[in-house]
Amino acid sequence: MKNDEELHLPPFYRALKAYARKKAALWSTPGHTSGRGLQTTAAGKDFYDFFGRNLFLSDLSSSVEELGSILEHQGPPAEAEKRAAEIFGAEVTFFVLNGTSTANKVVFFAAVAPGDLVLVGRNCHKSIMHAIIMNEAIPVYLTPKPCAYGMIGPVGAEQFTKASIRAKIAQSPLATNKKAAKVQLAVLTNSTYDGVIYHADKVKAALADQTHFLLFDEAWYAYAAFHPFYEHRYAMSPATRKRAHMPPVFASQSTHKLLLAFSQGSMLHFRQGSAEKLDLQGLVEANLMHASTSPFYPLFASLDVNAQIMKENGYELINKALGTALRFRQAVRRAGQRYAQRGEWWFTPWQPEGKRLELDPKDWKLKPGAAWTGMDISPEDDLMLDPLKVTLLTPGVREDASMTPFGIPACVVKKYLQARGVVPEKTGFYNLLFLFAPGVSTERTAELLRILHDFKLEYADNSAVTRWFPGLAAAYPGRYEHMGLADLCQEMHRFLQEADVMRRCASLYATPPVQAVPPHKAYYGLTEGKTEYVRLCDAPGRVSVFMILPYPPGVPVIMPGERFPAADSPILSFLQLNEDFDNRFPGFETEFHGVKKTWENGRVVYWVSVLNKTKKGKAA
Ligand SMILES: *Cc1c(COP(=O)(O)O)cnc(C)c1O
Repeated sequence: MKNDEELHLPPFYRALKAYARKKAALWSTPGHTSGRGLQTTAAGKDFYDFFGRNLFLSDLSSSVEELGSILEHQGPPAEAEKRAAEIFGAEVTFFVLNGTSTANKVVFFAAVAPGDLVLVGRNCHKSIMHAIIMNEAIPVYLTPKPCAYGMIGPVGAEQFTKASIRAKIAQSPLATNKKAAKVQLAVLTNSTYDGVIYHADKVKAALADQTHFLLFDEAWYAYAAFHPFYEHRYAMSPATRKRAHMPPVFASQSTHKLLLAFSQGSMLHFRQGSAEKLDLQGLVEANLMHASTSPFYPLFASLDVNAQIMKENGYELINKALGTALRFRQAVRRAGQRYAQRGEWWFTPWQPEGKRLELDPKDWKLKPGAAWTGMDISPEDDLMLDPLKVTLLTPGVREDASMTPFGIPACVVKKYLQARGVVPEKTGFYNLLFLFAPGVSTERTAELLRILHDFKLEYADNSAVTRWFPGLAAAYPGRYEHMGLADLCQEMHRFLQEADVMRRCASLYATPPVQAVPPHKAYYGLTEGKTEYVRLCDAPGRVSVFMILPYPPGVPVIMPGERFPAADSPILSFLQLNEDFDNRFPGFETEFHGVKKTWENGRVVYWVSVLNKTKKGKAA
């Protein structure tokens, strides 16, 4: 080592840097050979100069022996992963270079066989459903709690009991062994998209006898191990390490989402169970099966460096982010109090009411009966709100999901924010989510607050829609001319109020659709040419090929292989409402996965893909 400073660098990054410095003569891939190949054209040269020499010097082939093997977990990569495991509290950690989407699939292929039962929340990420399809697993669904404000609820503790899970298995139309006492894998999203976190240690204990393996999808929550605020509330929490009874636990974390890695950089952490053990060779194979044989070394190095950052500075980093989030919440609330004295509207942070919030976990619990949650919380639920995920509610909805005469649909605020260069993470009908990642500065926070105040002023002035959204005015001539922001908000709010949209949202899971075939069968229908598109109004009774996922609320309402329910069911009428909304408010269309939209006679029409009817005329 030439330089003392480099001794502080983590193992893989240090080795990569040292190798890049040598500028070896590469007779291997990648074909740009340290970027030299790019020098012959203007675009290539520009590309090289833009990203810089070091990136090309460190984009290497796996045939460089000094750098060990990422795929075989040997040499510096193995050292890096081993260190990360210690830092994040795992027994085994793999760096996964295709995101948590892939980490989740690795878990399925390591722990689940075709036909196995898996217990998954309906609020799971789509990669979980992809894993189920690829793996031919049979899903048994957990239902998220309905929320009056349109948040995606967590799963209630009553669904983790032996009785509840056995009943679900017994009632599953797809389970071959209806008397099964356990599922193979249970998957929970921790935190939920809106920042609700489970008491992971209690969940592990509750599920120990009901599942062979447990996966916490912690895509948005890789920092939990580094601040005492989150104690007991994450998968790798050390509290249960010595406890007698727990299943083997996985945690999949997008290091790139709320920590500081390059995009696609994720970590998969694992700890063996008290009784049950996983054959780790299976995990290695499953990882190989989903990995490229040409891993991107800079991406791997960014994970190595993130582990080092968290080791040296994790607490300070997260503590600072928590402080920034708290101050923002406080500032929004203070402004709200001032406006309220004048009888004016403002945004409300979705958080416990009353006293000034401190960084005390007790203050952030979702307590039974607490109106602010908009959810039905039971005494057994031990849920907490993560202060880093800040949801702002716009006016329009009461705590029982009924709607007030005055309201401001969040999608108009979002469009305004976009026009001002601000991008929220997620937008509901009446809420916006902002993530307070470690990179968020006090200045950025102050600016966001200023822009929110600006929106309020523009609203009060009924400022012209065409001024703020010129693209919209040009795309739909006549529709938004002579309208102000306030006019637009009120017309849209009236529409949503008449449709009783929030109650409909909250009732989406009251009667889950019936499973007709396993998700992989629905998918194979597609590859076997046994599917067709039908209009949404003709879909009831037919079997969906895709996951139907409207944003908002951002959770699938129909899973692949499930039957579309009747036209007057909450799900179908909600989907129909979205179609009507799109037609009334062009340019504000709801985003959809699993729905094809076409134009007919100036109207948007929704189409969905379904399995062909079988010969007997019955839907498959
Ligand atoms: C984003 C996300 C994923 C996928 O993570 P990527 O790193 O983007 O592949 C998985 N699960 C949840 C809950 C997510 O939010």
